[in-house]
Amino acid sequence: MKKTYDMVIVGAGVIGSALALDLAKQGYNIALLDVMQPSFAPTNPERVIALNEGSARYLDKLGLWQDILQQGAGWIKHIAVSEPGNAGKMDMSHQALNDAPALGYVLEIRHVLQAIQKQFSSSVTTFYGARCLGFFQDEHGVSLNIHMAEGEQTIEASLLVGADGTNSFVRKYAGIQTYGWDHNRLGIVASIQCEHGHNDTAYECFKEDGPLALLPLDDGRFSLVWSVAPKIGVVLLSLNDEGFKHALAREVGSEVSEKIGRLISVGERASFPLELRIAKSFAQQHVLLVGNAAHTIHPIAGQGMNLGLRDVAVLADILQQNWAGKGLNKPIVGQTYAEQRRLDTLAVAGFTEGVLETFASSFVPQRWLRGLGLNAMQNTPFCKQFLLQQAAGVGQQVGLKS
Ligand SMILES: Cc1cc2nc3c(=O)[nH]c(=O)nc-3n(C[C@H](O)[C@H](O)[C@H](O)COP(=O)(O)OP(=O)(O)OC[C@H]3O[C@@H](n4cnc5c(N)ncnc54)[C@H](O)[C@@H]3O)c2cc1C
Repeated sequence: MKKTYDMVIVGAGVIGSALALDLAKQGYNIALLDVMQPSFAPTNPERVIALNEGSARYLDKLGLWQDILQQGAGWIKHIAVSEPGNAGKMDMSHQALNDAPALGYVLEIRHVLQAIQKQFSSSVTTFYGARCLGFFQDEHGVSLNIHMAEGEQTIEASLLVGADGTNSFVRKYAGIQTYGWDHNRLGIVASIQCEHGHNDTAYECFKEDGPLALLPLDDGRFSLVWSVAPKIGVVLLSLNDEGFKHALAREVGSEVSEKIGRLISVGERASFPLELRIAKSFAQQHVLLVGNAAHTIHPIAGQGMNLGLRDVAVLADILQQNWAGKGLNKPIVGQTYAEQRRLDTLAVAGFTEGVLETFASSFVPQRWLRGLGLNAMQNTPFCKQFLLQQAAGVGQQVGLKS
C-alpha cells in the first residue's frame, strides 16, 4: 500500500511531534511515525526537563503553554552556580530580564508530549508501532518502507525528517556521519525532597569528576541530574536511600546544604550514558535532522530539548515563507535549514563542553582562577546579562517570526 504526504517525520517524541503540529497548522499534510505506542503514564523516576523562556514562548505560539503549565511546572526564578569547596559563585535572577516571569520551567516530558499530541488534527496521520525499514530519494522526494503489525507499507513524501533521537536510524541510513565523543560519564537522575524546599531556585554545582544540578519541581521537591564516572555511578546506584542521601549531601557541599536543608527522601534512581554527538550535516537532499538525531549534548546546562525546539521553530519558519511554498523538495529548503541551525548548535555545544572542561581540573591555580572567574561574572553586568539571556533562551530567538 502506498500513501503520499508533504512530509514524513520519523520519531514522535516532543521534537517530532512539535514539528508535526506546527506544520499541520500551516496546512501541510504530515505522516508521523514511531516505533513505540504513545504512553503518557507516570514513570518512576519522572522524566523531567527544564525548558527555558524562549521554548515557553514558542510553545505558547503553538497554543500549548497554558495547558502544559496546568499539568504542573516548577518555576526557575533563580539559578545559583557554585563549586563546592571553592570560593567563587554566581547567582542569576529572572528579575534582571525585564519581561520574563522565570528563567525556565521544570516539566514532565509526558505532559509536554500529551499537550502537543492532543492538538493533532486530521492533517497529522500517525503510524505507531511502525519500524522504518529503509528509504530512497529521487528528485521528487523520499519513499520510505515501514513495517507495522498489519504488514509493510510505503510512504512517499517531499521531505523526510529524522526526529528519532540520539541513535537515529534516519541519520545512519542516510549515511550522515557524526562527530563528538563519549563523556565516559553516567547521568544519574532521581527526585529528592529537602527540609527547606527549593524557593524556585535551580542549583548547579560543579565538581572535578562531573557537575550536579538540582531543578525545582512544582511540588517543592528537586529533580536531580548528577554526572559521575561509571565506576562511581555503579556504587551510587547500589546504595540504599540513606547511603545515597549521605553521598549527595557530601557532594553538594555545605553552602547549598545550608540553603536546602536536610535531605528528607530520595526516589527511584535511573541512569543515562552521556555523550556529545553532532551530525556532520543536518540536511542531505530531502532528508533533514532535528532534535537529538541532529545533536546530543551533555544535559548539565539543560539545553538539549531547547535546542531541538529551536530546530523546529526555524524549520517551520522556513516552510512558512512564500519562496518555500508547497515546493518542499527544493534543495534550498534543506540548505537554508542546515545553515540556520549550525551556529546555534555549535555555540550551545561549545559552551557546554567549555564549562565541563573548565571545571574538570583539580590543579590548584586553575581552581583559584575558576573562583575568580565566577566572581568576575557575578560582578560584571554585561557578562551576566549575556549569560542570563542565553540561559533563558531569549537571546537566540532573533530571526524567528512571532
Ligand atoms: C538526564 C538528562 C537530562 C536532561 N535534561 C534536559 C533539560 O533539563 N533541558 C533540556 O532542554 N534538555 C534536557 N535533556 C535533553 C533532552 O532530554 C533531549 O534533548 C530531548 O528529549 C530529545 O528529544 P527528541 O524528541 O529529539 O528525541 P527522543 O526524546 O529520544 O525521541 C525520539 C523518538 O523517536 C522514536 N524512535 C527512535 N528510533 C526510531 C525508529 N527507528 N523508528 C521510529 N521511531 C523511532 C523513539 O521511540 C522516540 O519516541 C536531558 C537529557 C538527559 C539524558
